[in-house]
Amino acid sequence: MARHLITSAIPYINGIKHLGNLVGSQLPADLYARYNRGRGHEVMFICATDEHGTPAELAAKKAGQPVAVFCAEMHEVQADIARRFGLSFDHFGRSSSERNHVLTQHFAGKLDENGHIREVEEKQVYSIDDGRFLPDRYIEGTCPNCGYDKARGDQCENCTKQLDPTDLINPRSAISGSTNLEVRATKHLYLKQRAMRDQIETWIDSKDDWPILTTSIAKKWLNDGDGLQDRGITRDLDWGIPVKKGDQPWPGMEGKVFYVWFDAPIEYIAATAEGTDAKGQPDSEWRRWWRLDEGAEDVTYTQFMGKDNVPFHTLSFPATIIGSNEPWKLVDYIKSFNYLTYDGGQFSTSQGRGVFMDQALSILPADYWRWWLCPTRPNRATASSPGTISSNR
Ligand SMILES: [Zn+2]
Repeated sequence: MARHLITSAIPYINGIKHLGNLVGSQLPADLYARYNRGRGHEVMFICATDEHGTPAELAAKKAGQPVAVFCAEMHEVQADIARRFGLSFDHFGRSSSERNHVLTQHFAGKLDENGHIREVEEKQVYSIDDGRFLPDRYIEGTCPNCGYDKARGDQCENCTKQLDPTDLINPRSAISGSTNLEVRATKHLYLKQRAMRDQIETWIDSKDDWPILTTSIAKKWLNDGDGLQDRGITRDLDWGIPVKKGDQPWPGMEGKVFYVWFDAPIEYIAATAEGTDAKGQPDSEWRRWWRLDEGAEDVTYTQFMGKDNVPFHTLSFPATIIGSNEPWKLVDYIKSFNYLTYDGGQFSTSQGRGVFMDQALSILPADYWRWWLCPTRPNRATASSPGTISSNR
């Protein structure tokens, strides 16, 4: 009996997900989990809600709720829809869990101990009209790489380039639209990915069976321009995992939290632990899926995600794992997907564009959607011919 660890990219907490999210990770991951269980294999199928960062804070503010209450409620909403869609997660966790706090602080401490973290005084955009720093995705502007005029401060959705907010041309606040911005100095921690570039490339090169979509995106960010860049892993926010070295304080980092993209993939591990905790099982039960020295050597680990998540899963998360110098399980196969489109454009949660999972279930039962989405999903499509939903059908 083989053992399969399967994770679906974790959906963000700020709203109900659309069918593009479903078909780009959760549904194919579910099919693969069911297939492997059906063959008699042992399966651990994990998903969770991704709960940190500015969008969660702002969505809570809009809803008039404390952010922790908002996240707890939205988690239940998403968990309920997942159940109604028949997604057979062994556990649907929360990245704000105590397990994830401890593990994220553990990894940061190990990375620092091994010389993979450096402190950087950086300039960050402060919005005078909004009265706050505007981290990553709450600054919009023109992408310096492709010219797309709605690029976010963390990444351009159009060309997938990872960006820093100060890279944007004509920046504006995504909260208020204000261009009354100024740059202020603040200290942050950076993960020294650049120094791990060769190790990461050797690891990616060893995966000769990965889909071209996955390896081409990974290679692009390893080799394009100046190559793999060091990555800021902390933010000036209230909501998130406090910056600590293991369980010790981190001098100079008081009041800061880890960047949501640092803690989110660690939640795959944490959610497995949350699941075994919920069953009252000992730590050895989750560790045998994740620790090579505690039974995970015979585990096959497969990740499912949309193409925008590929850089973080092929570069940043492996850098976290490799840099820890501890025997954690690395992914064996990354299945990535092009975007499902709606009437010729991208689905968008923030712009309310597309068919959302709750609306879909009010129209037809889950199995109809599952049956129809499987051949419609853009799994074999190239970038120029993604799957499409037409509202005329
Ligand atoms: Zn771009």
